[in-house]
Amino acid sequence: MADVPDIDRLTAQAAAELERAEDQQALDGFKSRWLGRKGELSLILRGLKDLAPEQRREIGVAANQAREKLQAAYDQRKGALEQNKAVAVDLDYTLPGRTVPRGGLHVLTQVTDEIVRIFYGMGFEVADGPEIETDYYNFTALNFPPDHPARDMQDTFFVEGDYLLRTHTSPVQIRVFEKRRPPVRILAPGRSYRNEAINARSYCMFHQVEGFYAAADVSFADLKGVLVGFAEQFFGAEAKLRFRPSFFPFTEPSTEVDISCLLCGGKGCRLCKYEGWLEILGAGMIDPEVFRAVNYDPERISGFAFGMGIERLAMMKYRIDDIRLFFENDLRFLAQF
Ligand SMILES: [Zn+2]
Repeated sequence: MADVPDIDRLTAQAAAELERAEDQQALDGFKSRWLGRKGELSLILRGLKDLAPEQRREIGVAANQAREKLQAAYDQRKGALEQNKAVAVDLDYTLPGRTVPRGGLHVLTQVTDEIVRIFYGMGFEVADGPEIETDYYNFTALNFPPDHPARDMQDTFFVEGDYLLRTHTSPVQIRVFEKRRPPVRILAPGRSYRNEAINARSYCMFHQVEGFYAAADVSFADLKGVLVGFAEQFFGAEAKLRFRPSFFPFTEPSTEVDISCLLCGGKGCRLCKYEGWLEILGAGMIDPEVFRAVNYDPERISGFAFGMGIERLAMMKYRIDDIRLFFENDLRFLAQF
């Protein structure tokens, strides 16, 4: 007769071993030692025939119960270890949290919004027009006669036929005047295109804001008042403007306007090329020929118009020395605004 196996002792021993198993390898060892075909409990069950008949049933039942109990404990342990492993991979609570990057408005959008806000306060409303224009709106109606050398002032991207990419926002003047009767006081921000070599100071695409006012008795003094008021609000009270005579086909008289250099206070520096002044816009009294093109009576209606480069204003306000930075989408630049 064989020795009677001590099932309780074996079960306790197996349970303790399972408790120590910390990985799959240990679990595999446990399984083959205790639950496999050649495991301890299988051997006991196979050895039942060598026992005394009165013990066979008791030991057999106990061995089967132990086997079921250990199998359940094994399954539970295996599940717990797998869960721990998943948690360790996906949720390491010691890691710093991931920040979600927040978007923001492009610096040119911010500057445009500020310009619009300032002119809105002076009674201007916003209008826009198409970026693909016809020769008529971009040139002819603005008093650029065909083959006139003034057209060469603005290198143009021609699309096809009569169409071109607008070289300035001034065509919006014509489009608004055609639909409205004076008084009209409009601000028109938007993209313009010129076929220019790209460098630190100029780009083939840029943003311009056009402003114009047409009514009875609008004077050059009104133009100066509006521009000085704008400069003080946009750049600060210390900003001074200088008006120089100039020429544009669609204004007469015309002026180019400089602002005192904000960096050196007018003493001269690299930004202002040691002149103490920086050009910021072109302006003038709307030419009677423009009014005639839209059936306004130049004897009764007068007006002024101005055009400012938004990049130029942003560069001065924030001391940016290269226009290309606006269009490179480098977050290190954009995130500063
Ligand atoms: Zn300067």
